[in-house]
Amino acid sequence: MHGYKTTVGLEVHAELKTTSKMFCGCENNPHAAEPNTLVCPVCMAHPGTLPTVNERAVELVLMVGKAIGGELADFTEFDRKNYFYPDIPKAYQISQYQYPLVRGGKLAGVAITRIHLEEDTARSQHEGEQSLVDYNRAGVPLMELVTEPVIHDAETAGRFARELQLLLRTLGASDANMERGEMRVEANISVSKTDTFGTKVEVKNLNSFKSVEAAIHFEAKRHIEVLESGGVIIQETRGWDENKGKTFSQRVKETADDYRYFPDPDIPKLLRSAVSAWSDEALMAKLPETPDMKRTRYATQGIPAEQIEIIIADPVREAFFKVVTDGVVDVQLAKTLANYFTSDVQAHLENGSLVLNHTHAPAFCELARLVVAGTITSRVAKDLLLEVLTSGANPATLAKDRGLLQQSNKDELLPLIDAILMEHPAVVAEFKAGKEAVLQFLVGQGMKATKGSANPSVLAALFKERM
Ligand SMILES: [Zn+2]
Repeated sequence: MHGYKTTVGLEVHAELKTTSKMFCGCENNPHAAEPNTLVCPVCMAHPGTLPTVNERAVELVLMVGKAIGGELADFTEFDRKNYFYPDIPKAYQISQYQYPLVRGGKLAGVAITRIHLEEDTARSQHEGEQSLVDYNRAGVPLMELVTEPVIHDAETAGRFARELQLLLRTLGASDANMERGEMRVEANISVSKTDTFGTKVEVKNLNSFKSVEAAIHFEAKRHIEVLESGGVIIQETRGWDENKGKTFSQRVKETADDYRYFPDPDIPKLLRSAVSAWSDEALMAKLPETPDMKRTRYATQGIPAEQIEIIIADPVREAFFKVVTDGVVDVQLAKTLANYFTSDVQAHLENGSLVLNHTHAPAFCELARLVVAGTITSRVAKDLLLEVLTSGANPATLAKDRGLLQQSNKDELLPLIDAILMEHPAVVAEFKAGKEAVLQFLVGQGMKATKGSANPSVLAALFKERM
């Protein structure tokens, strides 16, 4: 529009999945407990208390850094970010300013500036004239990832945020549910006609991928309209109104100077080389397969890209599918497994009728193998699927015992063909009058009578022949 280029940088906060809070022993569970029950003198900032660093929280941020190919710092420190607000009991937030844990790296094609560690604030709730504050969340470890301003459209921003959520879940670093506030995205948006960036506006309260994309669209359009009508963009923080689909002004943006950052004198400097769990070797040993590595592995087995995305979207379910497809080199078999897994299996999991059991993975693989070999029909496989996955029973034995092996023998099927034709003279007449579509009805009758075990193409050929 009018030659403007939109530029977006993202700041993403994610609550880390540790047992305890960032600087005290309180349980890290901001969602499940009664308000203000998971607090102690440290996270309530009583005078004389001292924070201690949660080693696991540091480790998780370093693992994210490794996964995105970032540079992990050896020396880091924590700083005080000073501001006064009811959600921050100390009147400062412990964060990292000059020495973040991670610099650089790339995810979904987007360059990362830095990742640092800080503590979450309490949760405020405003009800009419009153404000309520729940300090269970105060002091929960919070990772902040900042991207370079290299995103130029809303869709790329949305794709990046989805990929980060998937990575955090895969690493077990965060549940990263946006609607629960476990992952929060802020977008810095500007437009410009030249190579110099325009004035940027920060949009907060984006609690879904859709709002991230919609807010970027909205802001870019607003900026261009303001500039085209001769106005100027004010550097400010804006909120996102989900219902109206609009941003609104919240406050004029603070600069780093306003926060008077300085190193926290109560927390010792961190040296990565002094902690064995933070060494490159220890981190690499713990690093699970990343989403990109999974994509490559499944693509090599011949599984289509859209199905791979469904498979890797849930790391727990994917772990099962990995066992199922382990060592599978037959493309047809891999594709058949992916078909059942992304349709029938997912449906059973969604409606709660199935819980995946890794010891039953070979039986599921065998079921697909029988379909590929033509030993059972796809219809029979679908009927047996839930039972095989639940009990781990041998599908070949089940099919044989129940007379469900695929019947392709012409002589054995002929009496059934004739009986069905006798039963439906009107359909036969229609077929003879040129209505070939009725053949499907007859095949359906044949499948029904054989409990889905007849080979449908053999049935079709026989019906045609006999008519
Ligand atoms: Zn505490």
